[in-house]
Amino acid sequence: MNRRKFLRNAGIIISGMETLGSLKKFAEAFPVNDKIMPVIFVGHGSPMNGIQDNAYSRTWKEWSKIIPQPDAVVCISAHWLTSGTYVTAMDKPKTIHDFGGFPDELFKVQYPAYGNPKLAAEIKNNIAKTSVGLDHDWGLDHGCWTILRHMYPDANIPVLQLSIDYAKPAAWHFALAIELKLLRKKNILIIGSGNMVHNLGKIAWNKPEGFAFDWAAEMNHTFKKLIDQRNFQSLFDYEINGPSWKLAIPTPDHYYPLIYTLGLTDTKDSFRFYNDSVTMGSISMTSVIAAR
Ligand code: ZN
Repeated sequence: MNRRKFLRNAGIIISGMETLGSLKKFAEAFPVNDKIMPVIFVGHGSPMNGIQDNAYSRTWKEWSKIIPQPDAVVCISAHWLTSGTYVTAMDKPKTIHDFGGFPDELFKVQYPAYGNPKLAAEIKNNIAKTSVGLDHDWGLDHGCWTILRHMYPDANIPVLQLSIDYAKPAAWHFALAIELKLLRKKNILIIGSGNMVHNLGKIAWNKPEGFAFDWAAEMNHTFKKLIDQRNFQSLFDYEINGPSWKLAIPTPDHYYPLIYTLGLTDTKDSFRFYNDSVTMGSISMTSVIAAR
């Protein structure tokens, strides 16, 4: 992709989005009386959001005020695709700058959160669906740290990443996520980080930042509707649902994190949507928090 253009357009985002206003929802914190941690899917968009003060990053900042303080965070990022499933198990995960063509300022960012090897082992031992490998090489990629440095700027909460076995279908990931549900009761915050609509090949470079292709706007709406209806089977069938779906999900890397988030919910949860918008034609920043 053309990074310079992406960068330029990402810059425009700073002044955009101000009026799209889900901010009023922030007044209401999520209930904590049954001690089940909410679960998040975040549309992360451009890596520049990691260092920009814009409507997206301000939303992420606000989340940390309405969500109970977690003991650890587990990120499932679109940017860690593997053969097999792995969980980071090092004491000190490195900050990974997995992008090119961005300013030095972005490459200098460090997010020095600790890991939690004990929790990594616990996750491995509790997943029956597949053999989870303990990883000592990865770290925190930009799908994870660009969000967390706004949510928890002090980096004082341990962070793990769980990889996405890219050979597996959506329903398989959903079933794996069900096995992670118990973490919500252990005060662990699980964040799926991707984009519901994500087609870099169709980015509208010469349109205003808030421009959305019809198919992208339609799919942004469809995703919210299906999530609210808990119609997950339709989401699993993304490859056969028609042309707009194919355009929204040309590859499932940024889509599978949403499937994890949904697999972590049950009928007691309700969904709240944030940053509900399509940017640059073909990327939706729409995020969802499930809580009860
Ligand atoms: Zn991404």
